[in-house]
Amino acid sequence: MVLAQLGGSISRAIQQMSNATIIDEKVLNECLNEITRALLQSDVQFKLVRDMQTNIKKIVNLDDLAAGHNKRRIIQQAIFNELCKMLDPGKPSFTLKKGKPSVIMFVGLQGSGKTTTCTKYAFYHQKKGWKPALVCADTFRAGAFDQLKQNATKAKIPFYGSYTESDPVRIAVEGVERFKKENCDLIIVDTSGRHKQEAALFEEMRQVSEATKPDLVIFVMDSSIGQAAFDQAQAFKQSISVGAVIVTKMDGHAKGGGALSAVAATKSPVIFIGTGEHMDEFEVFDVKPFVSRLLGMGDWSGFMDKIQEVVPMDQQPELLQKLSEGNFTLRIMYEQFQNILKMGPIGQVFSMLPGFSSELMPKGREKESQAKIKRYMTMMDSMTNEGKQKMLTELDSSNPKIMNESRIMRIARGSGRHVREVMEMLEEYKRLAKIWSKMKGLKIPKKGEMSALSRNMNA
Ligand code: GDP
Repeated sequence: MVLAQLGGSISRAIQQMSNATIIDEKVLNECLNEITRALLQSDVQFKLVRDMQTNIKKIVNLDDLAAGHNKRRIIQQAIFNELCKMLDPGKPSFTLKKGKPSVIMFVGLQGSGKTTTCTKYAFYHQKKGWKPALVCADTFRAGAFDQLKQNATKAKIPFYGSYTESDPVRIAVEGVERFKKENCDLIIVDTSGRHKQEAALFEEMRQVSEATKPDLVIFVMDSSIGQAAFDQAQAFKQSISVGAVIVTKMDGHAKGGGALSAVAATKSPVIFIGTGEHMDEFEVFDVKPFVSRLLGMGDWSGFMDKIQEVVPMDQQPELLQKLSEGNFTLRIMYEQFQNILKMGPIGQVFSMLPGFSSELMPKGREKESQAKIKRYMTMMDSMTNEGKQKMLTELDSSNPKIMNESRIMRIARGSGRHVREVMEMLEEYKRLAKIWSKMKGLKIPKKGEMSALSRNMNA
């Protein structure tokens, strides 16, 4: 079950429970059974699922809940907490400092997405002001250096490797030394993955680690193996001091939930997840916002993080200010559409918001979505100047009436579109405005405060 489906099944189960007039044992059991089924389909280990069910039943003692208590909220909160517990391996214990060279060594089996993830990791940090560099110490797989070179060039990240040198330790040391001299503060060493967990792979890993003394070893793992991730993560942990895990291919595989919970069970913190082949299909993994998003409750901290990545620096303060006011005018929608067209990835920004991406920007149908947005913008452009200004500034969620019938007709006529399409655009606007309004009171973060942001908004 792909993650979005897993989330959908769980939130549907909660919704169904919420629709029941009385929440009794039977309704609770039905809801929990539904969630159990979804988790098992996602390859979460049976014991974890059973424990979760038992814990929820223990916490939610329906008889004990005094009348007047909001049972629904209590049950929902218990489900949320238990899912968080299932995915939470504890906090990572490392800190990396900008400006001082840190060496990060990537390990993992061949095909897990290690080389792709090295570049994504470098690219992510580059956007946050780090100076990353990539070293290819995989001399085992033919073509590994070419792949890293290609990715690095695309992301404009300096790289180091060799077509002739066969000693991975030597390349790793040379690369690290060179980039230390060049004042890079995030030196990423990609190592060989070989085919399976074999003695030679682990020995090579240990040698590269000894020679480069990494500040952090990141283990990269393919989520499609589901709960088998437990054994793989353990095997790597026993051979090298793994500080963090990145789970890849969370976009297309049925077993993502199983893989995440299995890694958590080894007490290895997952720090990022890979959600596609492209460089920017890479997300910070933080348990609470992740579960919140899985349950369709939104991920505000991820949203803010993305906003800072994709919205041009000079527009950020203004946008954040507007966000905190929670007042979504048609003008904001227009400006955000402009952003979307300029920089594709803002689709990801919207995916952090409840109900946003699936309708406006479904994955894999970006071209259609862009055409739709262009159509919406033509309609907005066709408003007469005076009307447009008025509408752009005055029409907001608290004031929908100013968009009356004659105005709608005028817009349709002016843009050569059907009235139905104008109505559709306005519906879209209302939907977005509703989501936007939830952001009222959002605390505007200072730089570097992203991860600690607005946790309370998920509560
Ligand atoms: P390596 O052998 O571990 O270095 O793996 P690669 O980086 O060469 O990746 C193997 C394949 O997985 C490539 O086709 C990548 O494009 C693909 N890949 C990597 N990460 C992801 C991801 O998060 N989602 C998807 N769909 N594909 C990925």
